[in-house]
Amino acid sequence: MQTKSKRIIAIANQKGGVGKTTTAINLAAGLAKKGNKTLLIDIDPQGNASTGLGVLPEDRDQTVYDVLVDQKPVKDAIIPTSINNLSLLASNTDLSSADVELMSDKGRLLRLRSSLADLSDYKYVFIDCPPSLNLLTLNAFAASDSVLVPLQSEFFALEGLSQLMLTVKELRQTLGSTLFIDGVVLTMFDRRNKLSQQVELDVRENLGDLVYDAIIPRSVRLSEAPSYGESVFQYDAAGKGAAAYLALASEFLKRDKSRSK
Ligand code: ADP
Ligand code: MG
Repeated sequence: MQTKSKRIIAIANQKGGVGKTTTAINLAAGLAKKGNKTLLIDIDPQGNASTGLGVLPEDRDQTVYDVLVDQKPVKDAIIPTSINNLSLLASNTDLSSADVELMSDKGRLLRLRSSLADLSDYKYVFIDCPPSLNLLTLNAFAASDSVLVPLQSEFFALEGLSQLMLTVKELRQTLGSTLFIDGVVLTMFDRRNKLSQQVELDVRENLGDLVYDAIIPRSVRLSEAPSYGESVFQYDAAGKGAAAYLALASEFLKRDKSRSK
């Protein structure tokens, strides 16, 4: 259904505040910076990825709601961002009623997948999911080739991951898709903190190669950037957050290339 040339990756974890949106913005921006035409789809009604890329609510003429619920053409709803090679399909609070509005549609799981089927201009499409395994996240999964999971470097990091993996497996069976877990990224890592180090050991021991070598450090700059509507590459290009997300982008590309061989 999807053309070979584009890859769609859902960024998901049903826990809130683990770094999904920060990773969506900065990984997408990192790949764009490396010359790949990239689209970020914000499918969280909170619209944090849209705001974080500097697109104010009043500038979101059409959003993912129009695409998902009213089945407007996705091309008409995509907007450019201040970053070269990076476009956005924005979200807003309208989206919070989408699950209720789509309830009676038997094909409700596949809405996003069919909307994206003809989209051919992009190499990478990232979908920033809400903190729940709800219909919006399931639409993202159904449309995706893989799922990237940010894990916060704290004690309960792995909690909920088995539920997410089960959901992926079930979807694969129901849809006959080949959805897979692309990888797991440790976020908000504090090198001086024993707990962070312990969590890393634990996560690597449990998940092995699924875990990216690149680790995202805790950085005030990373948390400040979205309030200026900027990626970390614009806000603090020389800082450790930018270096970490660039390393993640390189590793992501390396994995993607070795898989497509
Ligand atoms: P999610 O999308 O999973 O809810 P966010 O990316 O919005 O998570 O991150 C939650 C909060 O933590 C935000 O305030 C964000 O700015 C902050 N944050 C995310 N990653 C980092 C980091 N590496 N260092 C410091 N703060 C971070
Ligand atoms: Mg978020």
